[in-house]
Amino acid sequence: MRKALLTGINGQDGSYLAELLLKKGYEVHGVIRPSSIQNHQKLSFLKNDFNQLKLHVCSLNNHLSIYKLIDAIKPDECYHLAAASFVSYSFEDEASILETNLNPTHFFLSSIKELVPQCKFYFAGSSEIFGNTDVVPQQETTRFNPRSIYGISKLASHYVVKNYREHHGLYACTGFCYNHESPRRNHAFVSRKITSGAAKIYLNREDKIQMGNIDAIRDWGYAPEYVEAMWMMLNNPYGPKDYIIATGIPHTVRDLLDLAFSLVDLDYRNYIEIDSNFFRPGEQVPLLGDASNIHKDLGWQPKTKFSTIIEEMLLNDINLLK
Ligand code: GDP
Repeated sequence: MRKALLTGINGQDGSYLAELLLKKGYEVHGVIRPSSIQNHQKLSFLKNDFNQLKLHVCSLNNHLSIYKLIDAIKPDECYHLAAASFVSYSFEDEASILETNLNPTHFFLSSIKELVPQCKFYFAGSSEIFGNTDVVPQQETTRFNPRSIYGISKLASHYVVKNYREHHGLYACTGFCYNHESPRRNHAFVSRKITSGAAKIYLNREDKIQMGNIDAIRDWGYAPEYVEAMWMMLNNPYGPKDYIIATGIPHTVRDLLDLAFSLVDLDYRNYIEIDSNFFRPGEQVPLLGDASNIHKDLGWQPKTKFSTIIEEMLLNDINLLK
């Protein structure tokens, strides 16, 4: 039985990936933070599969703990998804984002190299590495130009991954994922903020949502499909390669608002207030991904439409509130 080790298993992507790997017959191991074990709410996405999963409490910022974990499990595949995943521009957050996102990537790769060099490694990269780009859509060869510490931490980690592939011969690769949503999306992200806000307004629990730049453009895909791409990347007949995982279809935040509110027969214009605190610097050129390489090599392509994703999220939020 093949063994997979996941970080971020209780997040959106980790929980979908765990479900996929269990269906494929893997023995699935997940790393959870010491704080999550007391907070069962945080593990709620995993409740259906709880008995089948092997969960390990481990601090990702401790090299020795990761070394021991890899030694105990000896995984065939490792998916490193855990990250501080929000794009913050605050000075206080910077040190913690760098530490949380960069060090564990190195700890995993160095431990794998020493203990199980045949283990394949997937790193969850991000479209934020392209940041202030002037090229649309972005491809794997587009110049990186991150505009946030989050983007920088993801880019630095990607170079560590690339280094271990090129200089130490590991099967290690990065998926440059564009935004991907689902009913499990964290409320800090704009899609969930809007669907949960529209649900509350529809049920008369709230009357306004504060929004940032609603003309911002994003490339939004469906999270369960993005985790399939991750698995395909570790089972690639061409060997370890980095790919863009995206839809290539632009939508504005305004489109998302319009769609979510019209599903409950409301006009979003009556329910939003623009708050400059939510504006982000430097979003002139949109991040839109060209996923033709992963399509050509592995046959992966996005299927679920934007409107279907938002409808699923909205219905889920209405059900949660009822
Ligand atoms: P990410 O920043 O790409 O990781 O994803 P988000 O979902 O947080 O943001 C997507 C886009 O929505 C960005 O271009 C933001 O500028 C824009 N946006 C507009 N209003 C808001 C808001 O109220 N909250 C958030 N999070 N994003 C907003």
